[in-house]
Parts: sequence; structure tokens; C-alpha cells
Amino acid sequence: MDQEGFRKAAHAVVEHIIEYNSTLPNRPVLPKIQPGYLRDLIPSNAPEQPEPWPLIQADVESQIIPGLTHWQSPNFMAFFPALVTYPSLLGEMYSAAFTAPAFNWLCSPACTELETIVMDWVAKALALPDCFLSTSSGGGGGVIHGSASEALVTTMVAARERYLRVRADAEGLRNGTMERDDRIAFLRGRLVALSSDQAHSSTQKGALITGTRYRSISTSLSEDLSLTAPRLEEALQQCHADGLEPYYLTLTLGTTSTCAVDDFASIATLRSQYPNLWIHIDAAYAGAALILQVYQAQYSQDIGRVSDSFNFNMHKWLLVNFDASCLFVQNRNHLTRALSINPSYLQNSFTESGLVTDYRDWQIPLGRRFRALKIWFVMRSYGVEGLRTHVENSLRVGETFTAMVVERRDLFEIIATPRFALTCLRLRPDVAAAARMKQRQVNEKIYMSGDTELPHPRSDRIASLGASDTGEGQMLKVDAQSNLPGHDGAEQASETLANNLTKDIADLINSRGEIFITPTTTARKTLIRVVSGNPAASKEHAKKAFDIIVRTTEEVLDKCRQDEDLRN
Ligand code: PLP
Repeated sequence: MDQEGFRKAAHAVVEHIIEYNSTLPNRPVLPKIQPGYLRDLIPSNAPEQPEPWPLIQADVESQIIPGLTHWQSPNFMAFFPALVTYPSLLGEMYSAAFTAPAFNWLCSPACTELETIVMDWVAKALALPDCFLSTSSGGGGGVIHGSASEALVTTMVAARERYLRVRADAEGLRNGTMERDDRIAFLRGRLVALSSDQAHSSTQKGALITGTRYRSISTSLSEDLSLTAPRLEEALQQCHADGLEPYYLTLTLGTTSTCAVDDFASIATLRSQYPNLWIHIDAAYAGAALILQVYQAQYSQDIGRVSDSFNFNMHKWLLVNFDASCLFVQNRNHLTRALSINPSYLQNSFTESGLVTDYRDWQIPLGRRFRALKIWFVMRSYGVEGLRTHVENSLRVGETFTAMVVERRDLFEIIATPRFALTCLRLRPDVAAAARMKQRQVNEKIYMSGDTELPHPRSDRIASLGASDTGEGQMLKVDAQSNLPGHDGAEQASETLANNLTKDIADLINSRGEIFITPTTTARKTLIRVVSGNPAASKEHAKKAFDIIVRTTEEVLDKCRQDEDLRN
């Protein structure tokens, strides 16, 4: 493709993208294809001869778009949003054009320098404490990673190395001695990473990658699924009693299932007792809300007091497309000490001068993308004010949705406090029980068989209730201190039935593809998560979504009653 060919093709692609975006609200949000659909459409070998661009582009419309889940649709209310905007797309274009895997400052000074500047812009826009700025006296700073998981595992490596070094130093073991190496090898085998049972699975995965252990700490619905200082302290003491070395703790601002927030303020009071415990705040989705003064006032200072590192994904809710995961640390030396390897081919006078940043030492890969451009373009095109307006709009849509659920409290219950435009609801257990079985029959079934679970047409689901799946690959441990409403068998049966029917409702909604929502199970309750950060989503979309949920719920309840009549 020569310059003229590129000009024509690029213009055609831009037109196609604009047309795709304008038709999004009318497309079913989920694709209607079967697994493997593409095999039948695309030859099994690459073409021997070059093909003209118009032919290739036509196949995007006919073969690729039918297999897309439309994350940018205002009817996409599943998982968390992953937004894209035009300024961000333009950043991607330039980034691709300039392709420079800028691992060292010298590899493309603008890549590094723009990244440092825009990370400071972001930190200031969120009112993160000054300790996270590149200009801070303590050596803070920000770096753009590909994902929250990557940011987390990178800080875990830094935490592991800091922990071992500090322990060995404290024991007076000299560098380079066998004794020190042996002691470090022993301690390494005892290291344990912690998080609440609501934290994203990336902490568990990070522990797997760093070769350390992992323990989750239970939370309770009565504490709004938040990790508190007493629960943490108990877990830390238990680790010590078991001969383990807790070196890393993930706290969350906006958990995946319900957007719970850990109790930063109370946990900050424990910091002085555990100075060598690295505390990371995972704010992958909800960190974007810190663009608003109301959340800054609530959280920013505590974030600075409690954490060594903080991460949020601009590519979820803050209008920059995937990938733009912003990691901030209070002391970048911990990253560079843990991750810096200096072979001769990477040495250069600028690095040796100490005047430049080499971001390769702040991350796992060597090469990196020029992601700062898209953040720069988005922040300039929208202004911080525009970002605030966008987040406020999502919050308003979320509040409208919550209010509608509250109005139908005869049908639904809300699980956990709705936050950050996420509402979690489920069918009320008493409504489920009334539709399915007369209470007397419920009791008979339970007391005759000693079984606390009702028969269900899809019993595989019952079997999976213990180890719950958030729908985002996250496995949550069952709360040791059960949140079930008591030990009464009938109540438990109603709970199980409400869980099963809620899952049926969600599955039926998703199978029809008008809206896309995520069912999840946490604290032994199956719920439907509804969230929309899409700038195009309005209160009308929230109303449409709620109408679909109500309609489908009534349909599932009717079916349940009919099945019951047939059985009797
Ligand atoms: N942390 C939280 C709270 C999340 O909700 C998610 C995913 O949604 C992640 C981490 C993982 O994000 P990533 O895909 O950027 O690794």
C-alpha cells in the first residue's frame, strides 16, 4: 500500500468507523453467532497474492462485525465499561505511525517525557496526594501499563524484593554472603500476599506469578463487603502464627462484583505496625470517579496515607481506549531496584547521567507502546471539566436505575450499596419461594431429606454456587461467616431459589441481546450487575434496561408457577 493507497483506505476506514458508531444503539449488543463461526468464513491459509483494500474492508463488515460484542453500545451494561473516544483513536493512529518500543529514554525521548508529564496531569486531576507526582521529593511517579493485573504483579515483584532486602538487612546479613542468600531463600518460601475475598482475582494470579502464597480475608455484607482494620489485623496475626510473612496487600476502591470500597482510613492506622507490608490500591474501574471533588474529599488523603501504590484504568471509564492503565507509586526506587537489569546493549550515557527515566525498569516487558499520546489528546480535547461532566452523567444514569429498583422493592432487593454507577439487584427470596413452591412443601422437602437445596431444572448451577464466579474470571471464596439470613432451612431454600431464578433472568436477558448485563455470585447471593459508563447512555437507556429486567423477571416467575402447577 503506497501513500495514495493509504490515504484512500484510511479515509474509507474513518467513514466506516463513524458509520459503525452511529448504528450502534440499533445493533443487538451481543452477537448472534455460534462458536467457531469464523472458520467457515475465512480461508485456512493466507492468500498467496495481494488483495485490494476494498475487498479486505468489506470483510470487516460482513465477517468481523457480526462476531463483535458491542462494548460501546449504550445497551452494554455488563462487566465494567471499556470506552473509546475519537481523540483517543487519533492517539492510537499516531502511536502506530511512530511505532517505537521506547524502553529507554533514548529510544524516543518524547515517549518517555510525555508519559511523565501526562501521568502528573492525571494524578493532579484525581487530586492524588503529591507523593505520587514525579516531582515529589520522595521519588514518586506514574507509569502507563497495559492492564491493572500487569500493574499489580509489577508492584508485587517490587514488594517482594523490598520485603526480603529489609528483613535480611534488619538481621544484619551482609550482601553477597551465603548466609544472606539462604535466609532470603527461606523467607521467600514463606511470603504471602493478601486481599479481601472481594478483590479481583489478579492478586491471586500475581501471587502465582511471583511464586508466593495467597490468602483471602473474608468480608461481610453487614460491613458492605469492605475490608476493615480488625479483619485485616486478625488475618495478619494468623499469618504470623502460621509462620508466614505477609508482604503484600491489595485494597480495592470499587470491587468487581459490587463496587465495595475497603476501609482505607481504619487500615491506615495499622501502617506503622507493618511498615514492610506493601499496600496497593486497585481502583481499576472506580478510580475514575476521583475526577470529582466529592470523591477526592472522601478518599484522596487516605489513599496517600495507606498505600505504596495506586492503579486505575483510564481505559475503563475515563474515555481513553484500551490500554491505558495508570500506575502511581510513592517511591519509584523500589520498582527500579527490583526490575533493573543493565546489559551492555542497553547502556547509554543518558541513563548513566541519572537525568532521564527509563520506563523499562518500571514494568515487566522491555518494549512499550506510546500510550501517553492518547491520554494527552483526550485530556486536552475534553478538558478536566469534560471528564467530570462525563462521570457525573454516568452517576446520574446509575442513580436513575437504582431509584427504579427501589420502586419495585416488592420484586427485587438491592445487594450492597449502589456506587459508582453500579447497581446490584436480585429477585427477592420470598417472591421466588412463593412462585415455586408452597412453603409447606419447601419445609417438607428439606426436613425429609436433610437437603438444604431445592431441585432445579439446571442442577449444575446449584453445584456451582459454593465457589462463585463473577463472570469476569474471578473466583470468590465463600464467606466463612455466612451471610445467609439464618440457619432456618426454609430460608436457605428460598435463598437458593432466588439465586437460581436470578441467574435464569440474567441468562434469558443476555440470550436475547437487547441489553448485556453480568450475573455474579458473591456472599452467596447471585445478583445482576447493571452498570453503564457509556457517554451515549441516558436515563432512557436505564429505563429501557429496567423494563427488560422487570418483564423478564415476570416471565421467569410465570414459567416457574406453570412448572409448579404441572408438577402438582
Ligand atoms: N481490578 C478490578 C477491580 C477489576 O474490576 C478488574 C477487571 O475488571 C481488574 C482489576 C483487572 O483489570 P485488567 O483487565 O486491567 O487486568
